[in-house]
Amino acid sequence: MSQDNPLLQHFEYPPFSKIKNEHFKPAIEQALKDARKDITTIAEQSAEPTFKNTLEALEFAGDQLGKVTRIFFNLNSAETNPEIQKTAQEVSPLLSEFSNDLLLNEKLFARIKSIYNQKSELDLNDEQERLLDKVYKNFTRNGANLEKEKQAQLRDIDKQLSQLSLQFGENVLAETNAFELHIEDEKELDGVPESVKDSAQALAKEKEVSGYILTLDFPTYLPVMKFAKNRSLREKMLKGIGAKAFKDNEYNNTENVLKIVKLRYERAQLLGFETHADFVLQERMAKTPENVMSFLNEILTKAKPAAIKEFDELKSFAEKTDQITDFQKWDQAYYSEKLKQEKFDLNEDELKEYFELNNVIDGLFKVAHKLYQVNFKKNKTIDVYHEDVLVFDVTDDNGKFLATFYADFHPRAGKRDGAWMTTYKDQYVKDGKEERPQVSIVCNFTKPSAKQPSLLTFMEVTTLFHEFGHALHAMLANTVYPSLSGASVYWDFVELPSQLMENWCYEHEALELFAKHYKTEEVIPQELIEKIRKSSNFMEGLQTIRQVSFGQLDMSWHNLNPSKITDVKAHENKAFKETSLLPDIPTNCMSTAFGHIFQGGYSAGYYSYKWAEVLDADAFELFKEKGIFDSETAQKFKENVLQQGGTKDPMELYKNFRGQEPNPDALLRRAGLLENKK
Ligand SMILES: [Zn+2]
Repeated sequence: MSQDNPLLQHFEYPPFSKIKNEHFKPAIEQALKDARKDITTIAEQSAEPTFKNTLEALEFAGDQLGKVTRIFFNLNSAETNPEIQKTAQEVSPLLSEFSNDLLLNEKLFARIKSIYNQKSELDLNDEQERLLDKVYKNFTRNGANLEKEKQAQLRDIDKQLSQLSLQFGENVLAETNAFELHIEDEKELDGVPESVKDSAQALAKEKEVSGYILTLDFPTYLPVMKFAKNRSLREKMLKGIGAKAFKDNEYNNTENVLKIVKLRYERAQLLGFETHADFVLQERMAKTPENVMSFLNEILTKAKPAAIKEFDELKSFAEKTDQITDFQKWDQAYYSEKLKQEKFDLNEDELKEYFELNNVIDGLFKVAHKLYQVNFKKNKTIDVYHEDVLVFDVTDDNGKFLATFYADFHPRAGKRDGAWMTTYKDQYVKDGKEERPQVSIVCNFTKPSAKQPSLLTFMEVTTLFHEFGHALHAMLANTVYPSLSGASVYWDFVELPSQLMENWCYEHEALELFAKHYKTEEVIPQELIEKIRKSSNFMEGLQTIRQVSFGQLDMSWHNLNPSKITDVKAHENKAFKETSLLPDIPTNCMSTAFGHIFQGGYSAGYYSYKWAEVLDADAFELFKEKGIFDSETAQKFKENVLQQGGTKDPMELYKNFRGQEPNPDALLRRAGLLENKK
């Protein structure tokens, strides 16, 4: 059987054309068996534990499992079908059982611990020490060092937490789905884009009622809030979205929020940390809750004057335009959009004509070459999972092979929304032989038609640069161990290479390489670039304090002993005190639907969004100072950040590149929020 399964053979590139849906489950099961065998061999060998026979062996154990699951999960995102989805349901528990068993393997941990304890006597290089630390922490953060009874307690907490976060998410989803606003008269939808009205009408038809049905899904909600002239309609929508999982019904999440934060606190205490935030931040560039809090405070203090100014401008604009004298939360997006149009009059359709996909890709490769001397050449011999997928060989200027780059640009059924970077293989060195990575970006850009080529919105252009920045991190990696390679870095550092790349989208010197009108070849006019730049900073003060407020709310739940908190809404209002400019809506609550921190993995991590922006703004200031294509600066970034992956502490890497710690003022300057603009 296994001879017929292409996933169980040796392969250099994923053998997409030979893979059938039914190959995945047996391949994953077999690979799991092999991986378990590898681990038993390492854990139960009679030789004394050494870095090589334990840490290094573990690093390369279960190689086939890694290869097969990458293909599987990448396809489940980019080209899925019901059969793959069903297999995912079946194999996911097997995979988490495997990683749980690994982390609970006492013999294995005893070996790792004995090596860790003699760390200073072993002659380890920086990267090896980093790997040892990472693996040791991975075990201890899951309770490997605790006595039996406490370990059982920890398992119990983990079980409860995973059920609670599941429940939390299901409640939010149920509430989203339960909301329907039925509109009979089209006049009430004045200003709402036709496409939104069309789908609202289609939904009404599906439900066999007349008129329109509005939902809280973002493709409906956001345009309604931005464009609907009808103020009471906006009010109903905003109150609807804000009351999610906070109403007096079975989906109310207030108890779940309180239970989750209490269990997280208990878990942290069991592991010897003061709070959950301390636990999380041990593995972050920011390191401590104090650092995060003072970071958020600094940004808030400096951005608030600008935010208040913008807010006043918005209020008087609303009063002047529509005699609104009691400006409310449901007015903000609407008047912001209106004022933006009045000020900048940026026509998306006109702008798109300068960003034809092939031109943009070509320009992106030119930018990458100018900075990092990488070359891209199409390779049509490599197997792909869909005919739209392009494959490139990536080499340096000396012809050395660096990576294989897959690019999958267009939407189709079976591909999830959004854009992302992923790898089929990471870079590493094993037994002296260097392996180069296989890197993929997946996007959802409009497909060209017979009538028109693929024209990108400006946001799609920055998205492409962003994902490509992640891809560079993976492609230029130059480490030994795969788990420290490329983008395998702390969460609050991983967005630096990606966000940094976006900066070139606003620079004339870069844009003239690719922003050419698809019919006339005319380079995008300077005044249009200026408009893009200014409009991207529009209402940045308000945006900034909004992000800060979410970061502060997150920390307020995780940076303390929560046992005394009984009222979720009152706690939240206290956390928002410094940042709220608009009247509170008593029936609304953010925490009960704050999926990032209560359902996903962003707890004590929401600050990372702003943190990463500071990093990229501060890094780009050096490029601005020296020239955006300055080879010395680019080289420094490549050598100290892109090639290093997670082999050193990120602050150390950053300082090696920049010569100093990141300064939040760079972000505020770029956003036009500080007076002394550089
Ligand atoms: Zn990203």
